[in-house]
This record gives sequence, C-alpha cells and structure tokens, in this order.
Amino acid sequence: MAVESVSRTAQENGSSRRHARIGILGAGFGGIGMAIRLKQAGIEDFVIWERDDGLGGTWWANSYPGCQCDIPSHLYSFSFAPNPEWTRTYPLQPELKRYLRSVADRFGIADHVHIGCEVTAAQWDDAAGVWRIETARGPFTVELLIAAPGFLSEPSTPDLPGLADFEGTTFHTARWNHDHDLTGRLVAVIGTGASAIQVVPRMQPVVEHLDVFQRTPPWVMPHRDRPITEAERRIYRRFPTLQRLVRAGVYWVRELLVPASSIGPGSCGCLSASPGATSSVTLRIPTCAPGSLRATCSAASGCFHRTTGIRP
Ligand SMILES: Cc1cc2nc3c(=O)[nH]c(=O)nc-3n(C[C@H](O)[C@H](O)[C@H](O)COP(=O)(O)OP(=O)(O)OC[C@H]3O[C@@H](n4cnc5c(N)ncnc54)[C@H](O)[C@@H]3O)c2cc1C
Repeated sequence: MAVESVSRTAQENGSSRRHARIGILGAGFGGIGMAIRLKQAGIEDFVIWERDDGLGGTWWANSYPGCQCDIPSHLYSFSFAPNPEWTRTYPLQPELKRYLRSVADRFGIADHVHIGCEVTAAQWDDAAGVWRIETARGPFTVELLIAAPGFLSEPSTPDLPGLADFEGTTFHTARWNHDHDLTGRLVAVIGTGASAIQVVPRMQPVVEHLDVFQRTPPWVMPHRDRPITEAERRIYRRFPTLQRLVRAGVYWVRELLVPASSIGPGSCGCLSASPGATSSVTLRIPTCAPGSLRATCSAASGCFHRTTGIRP
C-alpha cells in the first residue's frame, strides 16, 4: 500500500483562488473519482470542497473497530487505479482511507481540495452565469457545480425520548469515541445494519454486558475475508491483468447473486438470518426476500452468539 500522502491540500499550498470552472462538493470516492476523470480529460480548473478535515468521505468519517468494506477490494476500488498492495480481501477502514489519499496524491488531486470547508449555500446567478457558493471558508464562484455529498459519513442519530438527558456516554459509529474504553462496560447498540454487524463482534468480547436493539432484521452473508499473501501481491504487481480478471470475476459473481437473491430465501443457500443460531436471544427472522433489503456481511459466524440480549 502506498505511504500516507505527501501532497498538500489547497490550503496548505496557500491557494487563494476564489473562482474555478468546476466545483465539486465532497472528497469521498465520488468526488475524488470525478476529479480524476476531469484531470484525465485535460481539465485542471476545478476545486473540491470537503467539510471534514481530511479526504476519504465515508472512509475518513467511519473509524469504528471492525470497519471494513463488504465488497472485495479488488472490485471496491477505482477501475483505473487497481491496488496490488491490498493486504486483505476486505480491507479495514485505515487501508481504504490510505488508498483514497494515495490515489488523490498520485493523480494530483489533493492540491485542489479545500478541507474543513463546508458548503453552506449554492445559488445560480443567471446574469453572471455562475454558481455563487458560500462555504465555511468564504465565497467561491464556479460555472459548473458537481455534488458528491454521499450520506454515510454523516451520523443519523435516532430521535429517542430522553436521549439528551442520558448520563452515560453515547456516540455514533460514524463518530467513534476512541478515548472511551469499553472494557467491562454495560453497552447497548441500536441497530443491526452493516455497521453493527461489523462492530458488535469486536466489542462483545470486552464488554461486561451487551444489548443489541433490532428493528428490521437484515440478512447476513458470510464475509470471506482473508489476508492476501505477499506471494499473491507479488503476482498482482507483476501481472496486473490477473488482478483485472479477479476484479471481473468478483463483479460477475456479485451480479449473478442479484437475481438469485430477489426470488426468496430458499434460493440463497449462503444467506442466513441475523443474528445467527443462538439459544439465549429473541430472534427475528427477515420476512422479505434477501435481495429486497441491503444484505449485511459478517466474517464472524453467529456473530451475536454471546450477546446477552437482542431486543426486538
Ligand atoms: C462501513 C461501510 C462499509 C461500506 N462498504 C461498502 C462496500 O463494500 N461497497 C460499496 O459499494 N459501498 C460501501 N459503502 C458505502 C460507501 O459509503 C460508498 O461506497 C462510498 O464510499 C460513498 O462515496 P461518496 O463519495 O458518494 O460519499 P462519501 O464517502 O460519504 O463522501 C461524501 C463527502 O462529502 C462531504 N460533504 C457532504 N456535504 C458537504 C458539504 N455541504 N460541504 C462540504 N463537504 C460535504 C462529506 O463530508 C464526505 O466527505 C460502505 C459504507 C460504510 C459506512
């Protein structure tokens, strides 16, 4: 994996440009990918505004234990920037964040980015033929505005009565509090979506008691995560076409799963109901066809086995 960035952002370069032909909102996979394609088309006159203090979007904001992609990274990466250095088939968040930053460096994107620069308003000025953009770091004008704001970098906190008065510690997986040691604590997790499926098996061995509150039961697919050996990495470095073939293979297997999983549970032998086989919890089995709800992936088989309560 490429080393951490050496490129400097627009602020670090002291850029004071306030007008550009194109403005991109957001520096996640979407915004960075867009910027690279502009560069490849010979367009250099663009800025990127990013409200967070770093590049990566989802992969900058989510840093909870166990955070990883659930599509193998040979596919979950830019087609024009394969990475023979992946250390796992499903890399953890730090590696994905580093990948995005290194790609931004490699294609010369970083010095177009204004970090810590939230866009607060955008208005089209018909007379001048420009977008007037208000940001946390002052106004900009651009001729074309491209929105890549994503949605999983922003915490969605449930509106629970009494939450504001709760005296314990609360935090969202998208803003993990790394200073709070969970060892020996009484913990409640709200939700059993993709993030919970990843974080619960990591916290369960250290907490004293864990309750997981579930509203909509998801289907869980096995996560065939494994380390990628140095020998494999050497082969990918030497024969990039092989990595492209693996990528195509992952793509087609995933595509073929879609029609199969939309028929019904019986058609998908690999799917199991969350939370897995367990005797001490109240189970809710999904009633919908697996393909009608985003399936979650777990490397930990029966990941909720030793939780002491799953509350429907
Ligand atoms: C744990 C986890 C695992 C995932 N696994 C997969 C997977 O395996 N495969 C898959 O396809 N997808 C996966 N996803 C979904 C993932 O979010 C997308 O793949 C992808 O990263 C989205 O990129 P994006 O650029 O559209 O949005 P984001 O990554 O969310 O980036 C948007 C950026 O816009 C910025 N922004 C928003 N509003 C403003 C504003 N007003 N001003 C300035 N900046 C702003 C945000 O701060 C953010 O940095 C996963 C998500 C999570 C959380």
